[in-house]
Amino acid sequence: MSEKSKKYVGAHVSASGGVYNAPLNAKAIGAKAFALFTKNQRQWSAKPLDEEAIELFKKNMKESGIEPKHVLPHDSYLINLGHPEEQKRKKSLDAFIDEVKRCYQLGLDKLNFHPGSHLKKIGEKECLDLIAESMNIALSETEGVTLVIENTAGQGSNLGYRFEHLAYLIDKTVDKSRVGVCLDTCHTFTAGYDLRTKEAYEETMTLFGDTVGFEYLKGVHLNDSKPPLGSRVDRHHSLGCGEIGWSAFGFIMNDPRMDDIPLILETIDDSIWEQEINALYTLVINPANGAVGG
Ligand SMILES: [Zn+2]
Ligand SMILES: [Zn+2]
Repeated sequence: MSEKSKKYVGAHVSASGGVYNAPLNAKAIGAKAFALFTKNQRQWSAKPLDEEAIELFKKNMKESGIEPKHVLPHDSYLINLGHPEEQKRKKSLDAFIDEVKRCYQLGLDKLNFHPGSHLKKIGEKECLDLIAESMNIALSETEGVTLVIENTAGQGSNLGYRFEHLAYLIDKTVDKSRVGVCLDTCHTFTAGYDLRTKEAYEETMTLFGDTVGFEYLKGVHLNDSKPPLGSRVDRHHSLGCGEIGWSAFGFIMNDPRMDDIPLILETIDDSIWEQEINALYTLVINPANGAVGG
């Protein structure tokens, strides 16, 4: 690497066989960042990480050359911090706290999560208040890990599809040094924020900056979208194959506001992730101002 890159692109890689495999899976596709599940994402319980697995993870991190700040762990899909039923919300919160602790054990400083769903049983504001309450409890019982709220497509009763939802949760968070957001390009687009032209991209990002603030942007998920703008449907596609198209990803790769944070592919064909990563770096127009592939 002759030149220093400011863009850190990777993918949500497999951790099957053990969390320590994830950094090597990332390295194998030329990633400079990655996401992973620190436990089986479709099960409630997981056995604690043992010392051996933790040490091996840290060793493989060094071998991958990827810095912990460029890793964006994702929580389980089962967790709903805004669940209208107290018992189920408590179960989610316990699992969430366990996940925050696992990240900390692995030397990682972020946990990416979907805010939650009201399940049509309570109102949006009531649900957002429950999510914020859960976040504050999780923060008070853990250390060292920033809770990274992902914006959503707004499918079903999922909250987090308006930038105002993200801002509301940040506002309610007591420790603002440990809260951030992740923008998913597919979710942003299907939630109704256009990214396809330079003008639309700038308008969306200005709105994000004014509503949430780029100081809270801790990661981006790079996905094209199968459904159209504003459809509120969450279906990812490979870059350039969906409704968003390549231009948006070029804007991101040349946007200094996207420097030094994990930019993570969650596209549907993992066999072409290495190509997608390479293609993204070729979009960089001015290396001095954006990023370089090296
Ligand atoms: Zn995502
Ligand atoms: Zn999605």
